[in-house]
Amino acid sequence: MPEELAPDICVVGGGPGGIAAASAAAAAGVSVILVEKGALGGGCLTAAVPSKALIAAADTYEALRIGPSLGVSGAPLQVNLNRVRDHIVAATTEFARALTPERLAVTGIQVIQGEARFVDHATVAVGERVIRARRFILAVGLQPAPPKLPGLDGVETMTFADAFQLDRRPSHLIILGASRYALELAQGYARLGIDATIVSTGAPLAGEDPELVAVVVDRLRAEGIRVRANVAVHNIARRRNGVRILLSDPADAEADGAEIALDGSHLLVASAGVAATAALGLAAAEIAVDGSGIAVDGNLRTSNGRVYAIGDAVKGTRSVARAELQARSVVRSILYRVPRKGDDWLAPRVAFTDPGFATVGLTEAAARARYGDVEVLRLPLAENARAHIERQTSGLVKVVATRGGRVLGAGIVGRDAAELIAPWALAVANRLTLAAVEATLAAFPTRAALGSAVARLDPEKEAAGLTAAARRRIIALLRKFG
Ligand SMILES: Cc1cc2nc3c(=O)[nH]c(=O)nc-3n(C[C@H](O)[C@H](O)[C@H](O)COP(=O)(O)OP(=O)(O)OC[C@H]3O[C@@H](n4cnc5c(N)ncnc54)[C@H](O)[C@@H]3O)c2cc1C
Repeated sequence: MPEELAPDICVVGGGPGGIAAASAAAAAGVSVILVEKGALGGGCLTAAVPSKALIAAADTYEALRIGPSLGVSGAPLQVNLNRVRDHIVAATTEFARALTPERLAVTGIQVIQGEARFVDHATVAVGERVIRARRFILAVGLQPAPPKLPGLDGVETMTFADAFQLDRRPSHLIILGASRYALELAQGYARLGIDATIVSTGAPLAGEDPELVAVVVDRLRAEGIRVRANVAVHNIARRRNGVRILLSDPADAEADGAEIALDGSHLLVASAGVAATAALGLAAAEIAVDGSGIAVDGNLRTSNGRVYAIGDAVKGTRSVARAELQARSVVRSILYRVPRKGDDWLAPRVAFTDPGFATVGLTEAAARARYGDVEVLRLPLAENARAHIERQTSGLVKVVATRGGRVLGAGIVGRDAAELIAPWALAVANRLTLAAVEATLAAFPTRAALGSAVARLDPEKEAAGLTAAARRRIIALLRKFG
């Protein structure tokens, strides 16, 4: 007899989205089961944490490389890729230590290890167990789905996970895709001495503000990474010790439209993939799929009213912040029957490149499309004392606000962008004005001071909320009193 379980909520997938959903449900005091087929942590464990560990090694190399410009130098720099790999494993293992079924059990979450599969519209089977929950939340993430490019299925490729376990130094790493995660990995490896080329049929960081993206791409190119964007791939074929890609690149003036042959020793497919539904038995539960994601409505509810989907499995920006945001709001929506606000845009979108890239809220283009006339403020990092002190002045802060001064979005390119975006995320989420940001003081000399400095550029408003014309009238009036 299979064991039957009937929790209030069953979450499928123990990545950041699933864990956040289960934690929110447990905190609200309802019974919750979390089903995970692999290791708890999902994409954080297999991709986000290892890639940041790689980048930490690359950043350290870069800091040592530029040391002489600050008067500090040492022995010749060397990279031991095996040691870098050991460091990645150690950092990931340490991260995983906090994610055990026992720890989650203490918070009220029952973890079941195994693969979940719907057997009917209200029942999930996991091995010998059947789960009939009042509501299900699918947080299953992605499965690989290589882009349809001629010849790609006939060559050996790497996934991101493979890229963190290299046992042979690539003589030329070709990365197919130009997402935030592709760019940061390319720079990480390039800084550790690996020749890297990005090949993308679309634009780098597609959907983000091209003005900000250009700063990052220019730096990657300056560091020797070839970024071939918006290319047409004609063929990919195996060659001795690697692959050959035939493509045309409209931006390559030298090639002048002629076909280009790129030879690589390793090919990393860095495209996002599709929702990991292959083994889920969605048909049995009458859950529809929409292109690369599970189809959901504004409340993240699937075509089966008892089942919701969140995180990477749902189309949109793929990030831990968005998965966690959706997790908390879907649980609220389930438990308190309140409609969910479409608030994905509150999750910061970040690339851990150098200079870093971070945005939150609306881009300038999206803000203009929605509000028409908007205020756009820019401040180059070269205006910041800290940036000069550390000799890291490339980048800018760009803020978009309504004419009334409400912050709609912000983008930062520069060192520590991912950290510096936090106050802007606060401003966007809480509908704060530029005046509120301007009034937030930062210590000297910090990059955080860029926030109030850029807000101070607002030509119309200042802390007192007065327009420039009103300010001039008041000053003129007071002058009359001496
Ligand atoms: C190279 C790289 C670097 C990244 N770096 C960052 C970063 O710095 N910051 C950031 O915010 N995001 C980063 N991301 C993205 C981030 O990893 C994902 O957005 C995030 O993990 C999505 O969380 P999720 O819970 O939706 O899915 P996942 O993390 O993918 O978790 C899904 C889980 O579901 C499980 N599962 C699937 N099907 C079943 C089933 N049938 N039964 C049981 N379990 C199942 C899987 O085993 C997996 O553990 C990176 C991604 C990549 C590829």
